[in-house]
Amino acid sequence: MTEKPIDAAASAGPEARPQGPVRFPVVLEGQPALVTGANSGIGRAVALGLAASGADVVVNYVVDPQAADDVAHQVEALGRKAIAIKADVSNEEDVQSMFSSAIGHFGTLHIAVNNAGLQRDAPFHEMTLQQWNKVIGVNLTGQFLCAREAIREFKRRGVVKNVSAAAGKLVCMSSVHQEIPWAGHENYAASKGGVMQMMRSLAQEVAPLAIRVNGIAPGAIRTPINRPAWETKEAYDSLMTLVPYRRIGEPNDVAQAVAWLVSDAADYVVGTTLFIDGGMMLFPGFASGG
Ligand code: NAD
Repeated sequence: MTEKPIDAAASAGPEARPQGPVRFPVVLEGQPALVTGANSGIGRAVALGLAASGADVVVNYVVDPQAADDVAHQVEALGRKAIAIKADVSNEEDVQSMFSSAIGHFGTLHIAVNNAGLQRDAPFHEMTLQQWNKVIGVNLTGQFLCAREAIREFKRRGVVKNVSAAAGKLVCMSSVHQEIPWAGHENYAASKGGVMQMMRSLAQEVAPLAIRVNGIAPGAIRTPINRPAWETKEAYDSLMTLVPYRRIGEPNDVAQAVAWLVSDAADYVVGTTLFIDGGMMLFPGFASGG
């Protein structure tokens, strides 16, 4: 087994304690992967991490085709094949057409990462139905639509000997807010709580078919979605009171976990959520109180 280093501290800022070396063991050859929302933040790092691990990659995007093309070119620079496909994950027709193009292009898919997500925050009494529906539509219904197409393909194809022990691997990007309540973000927290129970129920349903479904719950990761939480020193210091490990997460912290989770090294990991959060779920406020 070889290991490939990849842009370790690409997104590390001056305040952050450095992350360790970033490495992706090359164990996913012959396993095409589809990553939603792959032209930004965590999705981008996951797409590149899977490519560094040997997978060809479908780079899904809905806005900013240039950024999607850049990711596709970086996948190719890692020696893998890539195709960028535009689709709104909350639109059934878009999702079905994306999966059919992806499967037509690569022959099949072994890995799907339901990553696309967004926030539309508001105090609860001011939250509009549009804000509620948008977040549930992308974060939860979008995951349902993509998961359904992925499961159909994994089921149709089954296990391929000498490629993977599983018939397919689905990863649902959740959040620590599948557990931690979040005032002013009820639509987001509800969507991630829903992702968790969809993921667990689906894992239970398809595990007998050798399909592995799991979740990843990031804490605070340095991406555009939560820029206000890390871009100033004051905001960063305040964020750190919630993170026992005292550094912000980088997209590659999540990408390395995803690459492991979809590999056969994690073959007995089924229906679980892996928290990538520097200890945020440890309720750090209780370290000096309670
Ligand atoms: P990001 O804003 O950088 O990336 C989100 C991606 O989703 C973008 O590419 C965006 O275009 C895409 N997207 C949005 N709506 C879409 C749609 N309808 N169809 C297709 N793609 C769509 O943010 P990120 O932090 O990289 O977020 C990725 C995932 O990680 C999200 O599900 C988010 O909830 C989750 N997450 C992030 C953090 C964090 O701290 N950054 C923490 C917990 C969970």
